[in-house]
Amino acid sequence: MGKKAKVHCLACHHVFKKKWGEQKCPQCSSETLVDEQDSKPPVAKSVEIKVGDSLLDTLASDTSSAGSLHPSDGDRPLKKQKREGMPTSSQFPALLEAQQASKDILSRLMKIVTVVENTGKMFEFAINDIEKSDVIAVDCEAVCLSRTNAITLIQVATKSHVYLFDIMKLKGNAFEAAHDAGRRSLKGCLENPGITKLLFDCRRDSDSLFHQHDVSLKGVVDVQLLSVAAQRLMGQTVDRVDGFMKCSKRWLGRANVGGALGVKDRVGAQNNDEGNGALWGRRPLDMDAIRYAAADVLLLFPIQMAICSGLKEDMLRRVQEASECRVAEYRDMIKALPQGVHDETASVAPSF
Ligand SMILES: [Zn+2]
Repeated sequence: MGKKAKVHCLACHHVFKKKWGEQKCPQCSSETLVDEQDSKPPVAKSVEIKVGDSLLDTLASDTSSAGSLHPSDGDRPLKKQKREGMPTSSQFPALLEAQQASKDILSRLMKIVTVVENTGKMFEFAINDIEKSDVIAVDCEAVCLSRTNAITLIQVATKSHVYLFDIMKLKGNAFEAAHDAGRRSLKGCLENPGITKLLFDCRRDSDSLFHQHDVSLKGVVDVQLLSVAAQRLMGQTVDRVDGFMKCSKRWLGRANVGGALGVKDRVGAQNNDEGNGALWGRRPLDMDAIRYAAADVLLLFPIQMAICSGLKEDMLRRVQEASECRVAEYRDMIKALPQGVHDETASVAPSF
């Protein structure tokens, strides 16, 4: 049973035959290894299965077909009618292209992930790639992200790659040490206003990055707010912001993000068992955690692509200003926001 299976190192991308008892990459000593077959196109496969499983649901809810496929609303259940108001490609010209892009991204997920565990060559390569980018996507994970709970992982995606910076291993070296020595660091990238950063609800990330690592995020576009702006453009009354998966389904179509949904469900179930994201504090990272972390940032590109194709310049500027307010919102509070407390007001959609 897969004794001779090949193994793929997610830190240096070395592929080797797994030997009994061997749990480290012979080239770089990383423990973040996946079976080579899993790093091929597993997500594409599961997307296909999902599509097949829920084809009827897909036809009913697929954003690209909403509006035109339903001649009569009278005999449709209320729930389905509520899905009206999904974006259309007449209003958002890049919608279909973005949906295809999301499918492609998920199918290549494990091929484009690199786990960065030390400040060696791969770190330099990653920082270089990030600094060359005009747009990146960023997210932080922790065992219950807050000002006081240490960030354990920072995901940074460029348009072609996603780097998972293992902060449990890198510690402050990812930020200060290299930075102070005049070398480039994550701090430099995250504070560079010339690099646009897509985040999904940046408030806790900004709070944590600032108080734990002295990083002041700049150039943020909060995709959660982009979605609010776009929904209002469609004439909807938006009282509450979407969560990440709801937003992904809205813009990318349930079928296209099916693979990511499965991972989210499994990770979510694990979280409920163990409470508050214990898996972000475990090493080596498990495979679903890696997929989840990567999908969280990578899907922000196609969502932004879809939305921005229908948003006017002045609205985009207002979203940017509202994003800046959010960067400061928790960060500048004198008292830390209580951790793990679900705050009803946090999901209120702001006006801007
Ligand atoms: Zn390796």
